[in-house]
Amino acid sequence: MVVGIGPGDPQHMTERAREVWAEVDTVAGYKTYINLIRPFLTSQTITATGMRQEVERCRAVVRLASAGHKVALVSSGDAGVYGMAGILIECLAEAGRLDIPLEVIPGVTAANAAASLLGAPLMHDFAVISLSDLLTPWETILKRVRLAAEGDFVLAIYNPKSTGRTEHIEIVRQILLEYRSPQTPVGIVREALRGHESSVRVTTLAEFTKAEIDMLTTVIIGNSHTRVIGPYLVTPRGYGV
Ligand code: SAH
Repeated sequence: MVVGIGPGDPQHMTERAREVWAEVDTVAGYKTYINLIRPFLTSQTITATGMRQEVERCRAVVRLASAGHKVALVSSGDAGVYGMAGILIECLAEAGRLDIPLEVIPGVTAANAAASLLGAPLMHDFAVISLSDLLTPWETILKRVRLAAEGDFVLAIYNPKSTGRTEHIEIVRQILLEYRSPQTPVGIVREALRGHESSVRVTTLAEFTKAEIDMLTTVIIGNSHTRVIGPYLVTPRGYGV
């Protein structure tokens, strides 16, 4: 199985993600995520690995499954949104073992978790874009940002900033300003539904890069219809309330 465990808070895991551990003998994943599901584990063997070892981790899972183990690979949020599901399928193919049964268990992705704390900013068409250029050329990311801006999509930005990559979000802001008002509402959510206090900020396209943004943050940038209603960020669909 490859299990999307949601944003972190056990209350926001699906029933399937909560029960699946009893069906496996081995659990694999990134240390931080293993720690989030530790309360559900009993006697399973744990193979925790560090960041940026995704392919290695998936190859190890394929080897274990080939040897007859039942393995759960942990992924945060949704397993198929910048998660482990795709890499695992590629590694199964690489090993010629697409015959091994695989269950992909979905989870609440960061965009949904962040949106829920802001109100309802994703009520209309939206685009999810990761600013991580480790695997995707920066030119491609910029093209997608520009076309999403032109198409008036609400944007949910993942991986907005890391220590080695602080300028990207500023460049994204400048592109959006070519298409949208500086007063466009922006929501910044850090550690949404992680089981402790999340930080939620509503700001504007003009101002938002002044706020603290890091790799535990999702940024939601409104479209031309997005409004602040009381404490909420809402993208009306046009029901005419
Ligand atoms: N598979 C994950 C995404 C992994 S990419 C999912 O579906 O949610 C990692 C990025 O997701 C982070 O840089 C951040 O932008 C976002 N993210 C993940 N968990 C988050 C949370 N609890 N709160 C806010 N953003 C989060």
